[in-house]
Amino acid sequence: MIIVLFGPPGAGKGTQAAVIQKEFNLPQLATGDMLRAAVQAQSEVGMQAKSYMDNGELVPDEVVVGIISDRISQPDCRHGFLLDGFPRTTAQAVALDRMLTNKNRRISQVISLEVDEDELLTRIVKRKKEAGEQGRSDDNPETFKKRMDGYYKQTAPVLKYYATKNLLKTLDGMQPISTVSEQIRGVIKSLTS
Ligand code: AMP
Repeated sequence: MIIVLFGPPGAGKGTQAAVIQKEFNLPQLATGDMLRAAVQAQSEVGMQAKSYMDNGELVPDEVVVGIISDRISQPDCRHGFLLDGFPRTTAQAVALDRMLTNKNRRISQVISLEVDEDELLTRIVKRKKEAGEQGRSDDNPETFKKRMDGYYKQTAPVLKYYATKNLLKTLDGMQPISTVSEQIRGVIKSLTS
């Protein structure tokens, strides 16, 4: 099973991905986490990605596509995986389709979490406050605005791409975390039954 968890920054993708990963035993592939680890490790990918991330911009497609291509070839992704934060551009979505077709596989479902922009900012500010010193440097109102601009311009069109392919399921991400988890669970179970 291959699930894409989709939504703007702060929609709850990471929170829900952690629940799904545990319950359905699907590895969580979060490009944001992978890129932050690469920056920390000062690897070549990290060096390429850092300035974009600091500015709240998307990292170039070829960099993230390369990371995902390597990752989904790992043995633990054999039975499926959960994508969190990828694809974020139509070019990435097309590249993903191509990678999967080459492996004779396809996306099972795209689940999109919808949350109002005011609420997203509230969540980002809260996440920063709770994380303190360890928090993400891009969780601040100025960078958030740039991340949202990028979301509307580059990422939102991906929804149309998947809607056309009849793969899109939209959920209300304003609901309590446990309610959203329950609905995601329902969607995934309906795929296996
Ligand atoms: P996230 O943790 O998903 O919010 O991602 C943090 C940052 O990593 C983003 O603001 C981008 O700079 C970068 N990033 C993560 N995933 C992608 C992606 N699929 N394409 C381009 N940039 C990404």
